[in-house]
Parts: sequence; structure tokens; C-alpha cells
Amino acid sequence: MAKIIHYRDKCIGCSVCFEMQPEIWRMSKKDGKATLLRATEKKSIYILPLSPSIEDLTKEVAKACPVKIIKIV
Ligand code: SF4
Repeated sequence: MAKIIHYRDKCIGCSVCFEMQPEIWRMSKKDGKATLLRATEKKSIYILPLSPSIEDLTKEVAKACPVKIIKIV
């Protein structure tokens, strides 16, 4: 299954991902960065299996992220 990779360290907190796809993104009140819900963390990189039902929208979100830190692999 494809995965969403979020390089959270480089997030600038613009909220675009959360506005487009609140199902899987939240803005952290602690540090203002986006959090990928239910993701697994490894060295500040967050990984979540990408279910086919949200694949198209997630690709749009990845494109829309101004610093391109959301990847689909
Ligand atoms: S769109 Fe990118 S930079 Fe903006 S909050 Fe989401 S992950 Fe961070």
C-alpha cells in the first residue's frame, strides 16, 4: 500500500493541508505545525498508510503544500 510521508520538522504551519483534508491533518496548538493523525514517527518523519479512498485528495494536498514536505511513496 502507498504511504504518506510527512517531513514535519520543515512544516511552516500554513494550515493548507488541514483546510483541504481535516480527516487526517490537525494543526498543533503546541508548535503550530501540522500533525498527520495516526501516523507512526521515525526520526521526526511521520508515516501513514494511504488508503485508496483518500489517495486522490491526498495527492492534491501534497501538491498544495507550499514547502513540499508531504510525499506519497
Ligand atoms: S501544507 Fe505543508 S507547510 Fe502547510 S501546514 Fe501542511 S504540511 Fe505544513
